[in-house]
Amino acid sequence: MVEKVVIIGSGPAGWTAALYAARADLAPVLFEGMQPGGLLTTTTEVENFPGFPEGIMGPDMMELFKRQAERFGTKTHAETVVEVDLKSDPKVVKTDKGTYEAQTVIVSTGASAMWLGIPGEERLKTKGVSACATCDGFFFRGKEVVVVGGGDSAAEESTFLTKFAAKVYLLVRKEAMRASKIMVERVRKNEKIEALFNTEAVEVLGADRVEGVRIKNNQTGAEKTLIAGGYFTAIGHRPNTDLFKGQLEIDVKGYLVHEHDSSKTAIPGVFVAGDAADHRYRQAVTAAGMGCMAAMDVERYLASRE
Ligand code: NDP
Repeated sequence: MVEKVVIIGSGPAGWTAALYAARADLAPVLFEGMQPGGLLTTTTEVENFPGFPEGIMGPDMMELFKRQAERFGTKTHAETVVEVDLKSDPKVVKTDKGTYEAQTVIVSTGASAMWLGIPGEERLKTKGVSACATCDGFFFRGKEVVVVGGGDSAAEESTFLTKFAAKVYLLVRKEAMRASKIMVERVRKNEKIEALFNTEAVEVLGADRVEGVRIKNNQTGAEKTLIAGGYFTAIGHRPNTDLFKGQLEIDVKGYLVHEHDSSKTAIPGVFVAGDAADHRYRQAVTAAGMGCMAAMDVERYLASRE
């Protein structure tokens, strides 16, 4: 059987694409992948998604997205796509459990935050360790926090965190930040931010919650402990696009290239949505918007083929 549309990925982009495709009677097949629900399941409370005035836990929100998409006939598969042939017609999608054929494919594989991989980081995730200040910053009111990174994200996240935190230590591994001038200046002028250059985090400390961060000056080798209730990495995101190398156009940073103001890729019948194709906004609500666009583009594409 050739499916009308296969959706790869189960974050806000994937489920919104599924919702729209299902309501257009396309009976979409959605593969949830290795991390069902995507990045939002790694966060705590989501307070910036419209429609939830009291906020909602990330995993709960993704469960609602899923239920809504399934209500209209989305066929959900708890499978991970391992190989695709997007250039053939129909397109072939292989998962860890089977092989599927589809007239169209929506790629919404998202992105993964990068981590340092130091001791304590994994263990204390959601217990003071985060890669999203906009999601979690609110919970650090009055605390001292550590941010790792020297790019625009690190500058932006540190500045954002000063709304809540008593103090932000910004660990920059080089002797200067690589962020844009205006962002660096904003950091420099903010009295709550102390940038520590040539400095790396070596361990996140704490029993049940983050209590401090062990840091090291990479010039002198000197180590010390910062007392802190939060630890944020802002060292970039990596879009999950390896699967599509050699088939879809991927930009230098790993993001899928699509037509301006559309979800179309260079391959007819292949559309993209969400963080895998968006290095700029990376928000649940923008990903959901792109998912909607992709499903509508699929609908038009299938109609034009008939
Ligand atoms: P970047 O890749 O620009 O920066 C990553 C930063 O993390 C660099 O300072 C890098 O250090 C540091 N880093 C990487 N790995 C490690 C490590 N293992 N240990 C310590 N530090 C590390 O990523 P961003 O997420 O900051 O930005 C991505 C893109 O999004 C950029 O194009 C940026 O301009 C854009 N952006 C724009 C914003 C805006 O305009 N408002 C806001 C946020 C992002 P080093 O410099 O030493 O390599």
